[in-house]
Amino acid sequence: MRDTFLPFSPPLIEDEEINEVIKTLKSDWITTGPKTKRFEEEFKNYFNAPSALALNSCTAALHTALVTLGIGPGDEVITTPMTFCASVNVIEHVGARPVLVDIEADTLNIDPEKIETAITPRTKAILPVHYSGHPVELDSIYEIANKYNLFVIEDAAHALSARYKGKFIGSTTNPVCFSFYATKNLTTAEGGMLTGDPEFIEKARIISLHGMSRDAWKRYSKEGSWYYEVVFPGFKYNMTDIQASLGLWQLKKIDRFQRRRREIAKMYNEAFSKEETLEVPVERPYVEHSWHLYVLRLKIESLKIGRDEFIEELNKRKIGTSVHFIPIHLHPYYKNKYGFKPADFPVAYSNYLRMISLPLCPRLNNKDVQDVIEAVLDIVRIYKR
Ligand SMILES: *Cc1c(COP(=O)(O)O)cnc(C)c1O
Repeated sequence: MRDTFLPFSPPLIEDEEINEVIKTLKSDWITTGPKTKRFEEEFKNYFNAPSALALNSCTAALHTALVTLGIGPGDEVITTPMTFCASVNVIEHVGARPVLVDIEADTLNIDPEKIETAITPRTKAILPVHYSGHPVELDSIYEIANKYNLFVIEDAAHALSARYKGKFIGSTTNPVCFSFYATKNLTTAEGGMLTGDPEFIEKARIISLHGMSRDAWKRYSKEGSWYYEVVFPGFKYNMTDIQASLGLWQLKKIDRFQRRRREIAKMYNEAFSKEETLEVPVERPYVEHSWHLYVLRLKIESLKIGRDEFIEELNKRKIGTSVHFIPIHLHPYYKNKYGFKPADFPVAYSNYLRMISLPLCPRLNNKDVQDVIEAVLDIVRIYKR
């Protein structure tokens, strides 16, 4: 057994990031400025995005997108129960009604075949989540959106570097929201990016910064003037140059990070796919998974212990894990407001009961990965029926 605890997903920050942050701190400009601008440009170029807006979180990006599209009270937004609360909280923030649609049994992404029956005259948008980094069926979702004249706002918090049919997630003209939270594939500690059509992004930029018709940092620079106009009661969602200092270097390393994530996922797949008590994640042939999460599913009926005890056993073996996610409809706020029962979304609920997210990040060395594999297989050996 290991002698130190293996944390679930520590960030990988190296000297370049640290030195860039120090340089920024010693400069005259620490909030949104030239480095944030450069980070937006480099992000846009790398992922072929039409336009990009750096913000202080993915939650801010999702909220800004909904407001910019004019979604509000009386409107409905279709999304998935298998997501982090932020994807659904933002729909509540704008006063719209989240409409949950159950997920596909293999990818655990929103099931396009179930979307159409959830559409009403009040439906304004579909908000799919690329769960764990496996892209949703974008072609089917766009087709439904076109047929009913709906917006598609992608929660791509997990999907940085993922591709659907060869194209990067974020390279399309609809709003796409990325997260740079500490555990995500690229981190700025906290941060996010909103991509989409240039005209939409310029409107979103104003809404994300007080509704001011001029960027603050331009106001204080040589070519700026003191004059601005408030055209909307906007938010305070801007990214700082300190965060962008991290992002610029993380972006330069994203290829290496992704190669390592893929290698680790492959090692797990090879070790677990022949074990009949375990179900490994899928990757459809025409997508590229970003491997933000490695979600192992237990075949509960063939084990003497449940998921919670399995996690305790891993913990005893000094392996940190997590569960992604407690489905939205089980949380008290949503359960009480909309009267949800666990069985309302049976695929989400039944998979929630048997899922474990294993450590997966570029910080892991082969010995760490081997330790995780040995721990999982040891528990399986002991508790197999
Ligand atoms: C992390 C996450 C978010 C929120 O990202 P923040 O940058 O922390 O706001 C939203 N959706 C999903 C699916 C996430 O995993």
